[in-house]
Amino acid sequence: MKSPSTTPDPPACPRWCDRADCARRGRHQSRARHVETARAEAYVIDLSLTQSTHPAGEPLLLLTGVDDATVATLTLSLAQGAVLRYRLAALLDVAKIVSNQRRWS
Ligand SMILES: [Zn+2]
Repeated sequence: MKSPSTTPDPPACPRWCDRADCARRGRHQSRARHVETARAEAYVIDLSLTQSTHPAGEPLLLLTGVDDATVATLTLSLAQGAVLRYRLAALLDVAKIVSNQRRWS
């Protein structure tokens, strides 16, 4: 009988997987990265990686937003995530310029 500490990781887990019962849930899942700021926000946002345990599964980005009554989930390809990174940076730069002109920051 194996002890839990000697149970090997599922062989197909990507290195970012939390290895928490992947076979039962049918997907690999990373730990959630919380999008926290220094103030209260309308939505609690988490980001993580997910991938089907099917051999053809590809890693995807999972964005989850939660407020008092609603949970919304958006699944993005890694390519969409890469473009989103640059679009966000550009929008944040524009917003910073606008807020500086209006002395919001
Ligand atoms: Zn896994």
